[in-house]
Amino acid sequence: MNFEEADKYLFPNYARLPYSFVKGEGCYLYDEDGKKYLDMLSGIAVNQLGYNHPKLTENICRQAKEIIHISNLFYIKPQYEVAKILVENSCGDKVFFCNSGAEANEALIKLIRRYFYDKKENRYEIITFEGSFHGRTLAAITATAQPKYQEGFQPLPEGFKYAKFNDIDSVIQLINDKTAAVLIELIQGEGGVNPADKEFIKKLYSLCRENGILFTVDEVQTGIGRTGKLFAYQHYDIEPDIISLAKGLGGGVPIGAIIAKDEIANSFVPGTHASTFGGNYLATAAAKVVLEEILSDGFLDKVTENGEYLKERLKTFGYPVKGLGLMIGMDFPEEISAKDIMKKALENGLIIGTAGKNTLRFVPPLIIQKDDIDLAVNILEKILGEK
Ligand SMILES: *Cc1c(COP(=O)(O)O)cnc(C)c1O
Repeated sequence: MNFEEADKYLFPNYARLPYSFVKGEGCYLYDEDGKKYLDMLSGIAVNQLGYNHPKLTENICRQAKEIIHISNLFYIKPQYEVAKILVENSCGDKVFFCNSGAEANEALIKLIRRYFYDKKENRYEIITFEGSFHGRTLAAITATAQPKYQEGFQPLPEGFKYAKFNDIDSVIQLINDKTAAVLIELIQGEGGVNPADKEFIKKLYSLCRENGILFTVDEVQTGIGRTGKLFAYQHYDIEPDIISLAKGLGGGVPIGAIIAKDEIANSFVPGTHASTFGGNYLATAAAKVVLEEILSDGFLDKVTENGEYLKERLKTFGYPVKGLGLMIGMDFPEEISAKDIMKKALENGLIIGTAGKNTLRFVPPLIIQKDDIDLAVNILEKILGEK
């Protein structure tokens, strides 16, 4: 494929790397020349079951031959089945489906506002956190408390306030009678793989409960087994009111969702919110397999075990390593560029990501095994040895 030719036809909004893949198998990808790459980025924390997973591929193909899309004017069986699995395995009661993380957060924000509108309480302010990432729609970039995502897109929607991550006093200072909710990533993904402190979340949760403020979590990246539990909130002793999901849910097929408590979900009466594609046959047929696999016996234990193994092996490089399950970051000092390491790794057949200021990000398919991890560490040893 001719990259320069492709650039002539595509918007210049992505700084694409000069690689193009044609096939994948398990945790491995192959480029046009047949060169093999170990993928520890998973299409940005999306491909939970890796590539060409037999059950996932089979169910998508089967579904495509029956019905791909029919709209929410009718009942969609796999949509109901996926909702049932999500509800039975979370603290939520009802599910709404959309197509991406930004859309899920957009729905979450609208639901918060509508809930208090129905309660006739004049609350609409949402507190989010510095270093967060919630997506690219106007409301989502406003929730995203990082100026670089907002620059040039003003005026932004009103009603968002920014607290410091892991700093309860900064939240207390922002609370007033208009505060409707907090929205938080329990591990900030794009912000640099920053986990929320247990003690901070405990205090934040109590603060919300004491003040009638909804506690909502963006699990677009942390959800669907990524951290070794189905949802990251299950590592903390809390029950969020609304959870947003996307990335890993469809194993690569676009899908997003929010799960909410009944009392809150019931504010989305007919006419308040909708999505043409949301939860269609193809996407939910994929999500069903992803969830069944992740919830199968021993799957999540393996994610935890292999995540610990990857962490231990990465720690031998001597840089700070953080994260949970298979969502891991390694911080580099200023003089070593994580981006350069990422590019060198690509040349050596290893796909990894970067996040935050200078963090290497490891979010491999959840099916990764120890010998794959060993291979990744060997490649990194070679690259970092050259530094
Ligand atoms: C990726 C991401 C989003 C945005 O998802 P899109 O599908 O790109 O819209 C939102 N929140 C978090 C935590 C994410 O990691």
